[in-house]
Amino acid sequence: MKAEIALLRGDGIGPEIVDGAVSVLRKTAQIFGHDFNFTPYLIGGCAIDATGMPLPEETVNGCLASDSVLLGAVGGPKWDDMPGDRRPEKALLGIRSALGLYTNLRPAKLYPALRSASPLKDEIVGSGFDIMIVRELTGGIYFGERGYREGKYGNEAFDTESYSVTEIERIGRVAFETAMKRQKKLCSIDKANVLETSRLWRKIMHGLSENYPEVEYSDMFVDNAAMQLVRDPRQFDVIVTSNMFGDILSDEASQITGSIGMLSSASLGDGTRGMYEPIHGSAPDIAGQNKANPIATILSGAMMLKYSFGLKEEADRIEKAVDSVLNAGFRTADIMGSQEGTPLTCTEMTERILEAL
Ligand code: NAD
Repeated sequence: MKAEIALLRGDGIGPEIVDGAVSVLRKTAQIFGHDFNFTPYLIGGCAIDATGMPLPEETVNGCLASDSVLLGAVGGPKWDDMPGDRRPEKALLGIRSALGLYTNLRPAKLYPALRSASPLKDEIVGSGFDIMIVRELTGGIYFGERGYREGKYGNEAFDTESYSVTEIERIGRVAFETAMKRQKKLCSIDKANVLETSRLWRKIMHGLSENYPEVEYSDMFVDNAAMQLVRDPRQFDVIVTSNMFGDILSDEASQITGSIGMLSSASLGDGTRGMYEPIHGSAPDIAGQNKANPIATILSGAMMLKYSFGLKEEADRIEKAVDSVLNAGFRTADIMGSQEGTPLTCTEMTERILEAL
């Protein structure tokens, strides 16, 4: 197949890890006879430096004209003092919104070879866990009305959470369909004992569950979910939750897998175009040193092949190549743990994965 892929390398380690993922995608295309064309666009701090804006119009148009988008990461200390609406991170909300990406899929999987990297005890982790978090991405408090006003105690700031029936139904359907393709277990996480939006969320999820009798459905309050993730992560298969709860819980879930440098994500909308990115940030502390772990971005590329292009065999090949490199004991610094030896650089890890392909 032929595909146009927009590359948003971004800042910090973004360029290094995206280049690693591109070489893996190119090699996969070569093996399976596909034709992928990559076009870079500016986003984040580098876009501010070049154009004064974190999300130039050319970038939005380029992504809209592409079949899919691969993103590195944005941000860094150089731009930390920019006003809120001009910060690099603002570009992420903008591009998700422009592409209509309302679903965020974040797998949190513990690789048996990296067992020792998880901070959880052996008896909790057992043979490992594999959770898929489905997070609503374009609604809720991050997009609600906000501002300052005179309140009971003087000047105050406020943010507003609102969710429409449509927004909840569409993310709910994605979650149930995702559960159908996995272990058929879905847990919806909310705060229905306090929040009105959560009560609506719960009502709609219950309604949808009647259409999916094969899915074992449950609800959980977010405070309990935060505990359960570290107490017994193996109880979860698919989790569905709102934008803010998903933001927090998916970071917790990634932490218990042991390495932020391993975890990929997909942002999807109604069509096949998606945006694929590692869950970590731009890691300014190691930027430009060739120390970054490219695996999260390489696995994001595999997710693109699976979810946007329907190339499951090709995606499996990449995931297996990563597994075999880890099983052979190769590590970048972030996943070395107490293992002896010299860690691989970002380019060396990419080369090992290319060989394994
Ligand atoms: P971070 O994820 O960039 O880094 C946290 C720690 O993890 C650092 O020690 C870093 O070196 C390490 N790390 C992250 N990715 C790694 C990788 N691939 N290989 C090896 N080590 C890795 O989070 P932070 O330090 O809180 O944020 C840094 C910048 O990134 C900030 O400007 C923040 O706003 C931005 N950020 C961007 C995104 C995004 O683009 N999606 C997400 C989160 C943070």
